[in-house]
Amino acid sequence: MTDHPKPKSRSTEDIGSQMLVDKAECKISVNVGDFYNNNHMVVIQTQEIDETGKAIYSRFKLHLSSLELHAPVLANFLTQALDSVEGTEENPVILPFTTPEFTCFLDWIHDREWRPFKITEESLVHLLRVSSTLKAEDGISYAVSGLESLRLPSAQMLQLVGDFHRLPEVHYWVGPAVKDLIQRPLGEITNSEAQQIAAAYPTIARTRENIQHLLTQVSQRSFALKLADKDQQEEADLCLTHKECQKAWKSIWRENIGYLLLDFQKPLTYRELLELLQNTDFPKVNPSCKARMLNWLSRKTDYPGMKELVEEAVASIEDIYHLPRRGPAPENPKV
Ligand SMILES: [Zn+2]
Repeated sequence: MTDHPKPKSRSTEDIGSQMLVDKAECKISVNVGDFYNNNHMVVIQTQEIDETGKAIYSRFKLHLSSLELHAPVLANFLTQALDSVEGTEENPVILPFTTPEFTCFLDWIHDREWRPFKITEESLVHLLRVSSTLKAEDGISYAVSGLESLRLPSAQMLQLVGDFHRLPEVHYWVGPAVKDLIQRPLGEITNSEAQQIAAAYPTIARTRENIQHLLTQVSQRSFALKLADKDQQEEADLCLTHKECQKAWKSIWRENIGYLLLDFQKPLTYRELLELLQNTDFPKVNPSCKARMLNWLSRKTDYPGMKELVEEAVASIEDIYHLPRRGPAPENPKV
């Protein structure tokens, strides 16, 4: 082997003549796949019906490689179409999307820092519609998390569940939406919301009625200052006037607490009830008996029977939207 001479600094002239030599000697042996595209341009047509009922056609001319990453199913379909001489100016491929829907999809594919995809409910719904038809997984995930981040009203979320019920990603929207809707007074649900939840409305109304019934029972039962388990029994034995405690508890409950559960416009939530009990003065109740009772109540997360009512409502609305039965949803730490 000979010693390599130290590289000398070269003038632009040197480099220019060297390039000529390289070019003359160049022999291509490898095409680098990622950067050697043989794809054709493809012409796609969509249509939109204007307010007079007239169809307006729009055309898109795209390079197939721009679709391969985010819409492989479409790219594959279009490749086959090109083979059978479709996708040309004379014979465009007609896709079953409206012009705004497909434009949004392309906007998302071409999302760049200097030309960002605009996140609105409409653009995300368009994206979801096209992505779900094309099985474009990235587009589906993007649209789903985008819609979740917009915190849309529950009725709207339920409508979207109905529209996209074939997508498992939207099934998790049912639980929170139903829980929210059954807590709202029916009178507050507007006509347009009622239309959005359409088939689910009777279930929501019935569940609210059942909840009112349950709260009426709780308000009458007063969560009597009773004893939940053996340990508490032993502790209660230390209270020499426990009968008095129970009587006093019941009477304060009747005067100050129970009726708040019957406010059907805005019934007390279980958490609010706990706070209220904590802050209410029970002058004739032994403080340690009150503390023990609150401790027992705070180990529960809701009124007895409430969880079942809500679960039943969610399950029957899932049936209405033809959602497959599934395991329990992930725990919601907020409740
Ligand atoms: Zn007591």
